[in-house]
Amino acid sequence: MGDSTMWRATILTIFPEMFPGPLGLSLAGKALAGKLWSLDAHDIRAHATDRHGTVDDTPAGGGPGMVMKADVLARALDAIPADGRPRLLMSARGRPLTQARVAGLAKGDGLVALCGRFEGVDERLIAARGLEEVSIGDYVLSGGEIAALALLDACVRLIPGVMGKEASGAEESFIAGLLEYPQYTRPAVFEGRPIPEVLTGGDHGKVKAWRQAEAERLTRERRPDLWKAYESRPKKPRT
Ligand code: SAH
Repeated sequence: MGDSTMWRATILTIFPEMFPGPLGLSLAGKALAGKLWSLDAHDIRAHATDRHGTVDDTPAGGGPGMVMKADVLARALDAIPADGRPRLLMSARGRPLTQARVAGLAKGDGLVALCGRFEGVDERLIAARGLEEVSIGDYVLSGGEIAALALLDACVRLIPGVMGKEASGAEESFIAGLLEYPQYTRPAVFEGRPIPEVLTGGDHGKVKAWRQAEAERLTRERRPDLWKAYESRPKKPRT
């Protein structure tokens, strides 16, 4: 991040009132109030070319639903100064979002995200403005706003100073390519279930080994895709 500028998010949406929404609370909300990041939600409708504020039209070739207009979206995007921030389109057909991409975005100056609605956006807009299509998972939402909120939440917590303990980001799921190990806290026994003995024994080496083994077991059982990638990862060269 350029240290003179805060991390900036600009969202293009027909529902600007959905922002900051849940990001106005908790960690992200405190960081927003503390100017560790900024959020602008622009109303796409303000860039409509007719008096009715039309942003969509019927699909060429027929079919159900409506398509967001390339000309209106281009005007909305072009009203944002080109400052090198990545321009994303929230899209069910985009590349699935990963923690690695999130970390990359969090290290930059921020992002511009366009939220689709209806059946999506005119394909020519995506090509003409070189938008990066990002999906938050293999399911279909009714709009890009909740996807953008999820993306922002994931990015903002990685901005330096946002998380209480800087270290708590380092060990969690996906960082090392494994799912996170199980967590426990008091009471020592819950409905007859004790905390695993190794965690209360005070041997840090044993705790570390147990956590690593559990993370590996869970990843093997639940995410064969991640496990395969983990097993074939390049080993760190010995120095
Ligand atoms: N007809 C489209 C779905 C449109 S849903 C299709 O079948 O792919 C309307 C909008 O919701 C999309 O334009 C996109 O901005 C957003 N959206 C839906 N699912 C999403 C997902 N999994 N990730 C990110 N954005 C999504």
